[in-house]
Amino acid sequence: MSTEIKAMTTSQVSNFINTQRMIGSFIKMAKINTVSDESKAETNEIPSTKSQIELAHILQDDLKQISGLVEIDVDKNAVVTATFPSNVQGTNIPTVGLLAHLDIADDVPTDNIQPTIHENYQGGDLKLGHGTVIPASDLIEHIGEDIITTDGRTLLGADDKAGIAEIVEVLTVYSEHPELQRPNIKIAFTPDEEISRGCDFFDIQKFGADAAYTIDGSKPGEIENETFNAHMVKITFSGKDVHPGYAKGKMVNSLRALADFIARLPRDEAPETTSGRQGYIHPISIEDKSVSKSTLTMIVRDFDYEGSLNRIERIKQIAKEVEKLNMGCSIEVNVKEQYRNMKEAIDKKPEVVEYAKQGIQDSGLQVIDKPIRGGTDGSRLSLRGLPTPNLGAGGQNFHSLREFVTAQDMKKCATVIINTLSAWVRNLKK
Ligand SMILES: [Zn+2]
Repeated sequence: MSTEIKAMTTSQVSNFINTQRMIGSFIKMAKINTVSDESKAETNEIPSTKSQIELAHILQDDLKQISGLVEIDVDKNAVVTATFPSNVQGTNIPTVGLLAHLDIADDVPTDNIQPTIHENYQGGDLKLGHGTVIPASDLIEHIGEDIITTDGRTLLGADDKAGIAEIVEVLTVYSEHPELQRPNIKIAFTPDEEISRGCDFFDIQKFGADAAYTIDGSKPGEIENETFNAHMVKITFSGKDVHPGYAKGKMVNSLRALADFIARLPRDEAPETTSGRQGYIHPISIEDKSVSKSTLTMIVRDFDYEGSLNRIERIKQIAKEVEKLNMGCSIEVNVKEQYRNMKEAIDKKPEVVEYAKQGIQDSGLQVIDKPIRGGTDGSRLSLRGLPTPNLGAGGQNFHSLREFVTAQDMKKCATVIINTLSAWVRNLKK
């Protein structure tokens, strides 16, 4: 490697970004309701909704307009992929992936999404209409910026269409500025992230990246390389139903046992009482609600894997106590691992995080390094062998009617992506 590259200054790289074009592409995508369908989460139907296929094909057409981009493809699961080969001479040029998801969340309505730009925001509560207000406190850092919201009725879907728009803009910038040196870039837009299915069928081998970034976080400068360890625990309480008139000494009510169980769960280990790095045990639903049988589903979350196992052990202990208390009731505990903290996998390739931090700093931003109280597609990919931390895409108030993103933040996030890719090239062994 003989290439000597100095980091371009923020202003140089960010001047290449056409914010108007990026916002235009974001708004076009935001109007397509690509909500994923939770009811299909247990099936092999990926994508779970047709609109995601529609968006995949629109993106395929858009990518075809970018000269230099090759291997543009949409597969049967609506995964969009493309390659931008490196323009750096030498061997061992790394291949870096950029990922974002096509679907949007279903927490609030998603039909007829009407993105609106509030230009040059001057402070105060932002009234979107239909009774939805973004409080001034959420917007304090955005005075003078152009804020994109909806009309207050629906989700915006900046999670994750801001990420897609930024990736498309970055590719366009590389196409227009061949003087910007880049590693081999692989991109993928994947379906069904919000129902945790998107990357199940993602072919890591075929994708062929050494590392990747999901562009699916919030503020510019954010890097997330740690997620919860996640387990689902199903507890089945089996009792005995008898006519209540003749039940004395015979009936065993599974619902009482279930209530006893929940009452014994530690209240200071719940999502509503924890934050930061604390884990929790969270009952989420009850099925088969009858005297003879009831089933409780819980999720267990902990950043520390040992910690997760300890919580599960406590659950089993409580189940035993409750069994004793409800003579004749049998309690069965079933544990299923959902995903694991991706930090362990990412730490095997520390440069993935290091180069992103350099990219953030080269963009004139503070590194915001924080654990995710949830999972990402990146956590699943990391554990399957593709280290994939998450970078900010700019959107805030995700999954709510108050969701917003600013044009300025999207520009910053796109700048971070370019500067991160530059760091990969700059750090090549000479
Ligand atoms: Zn997302």
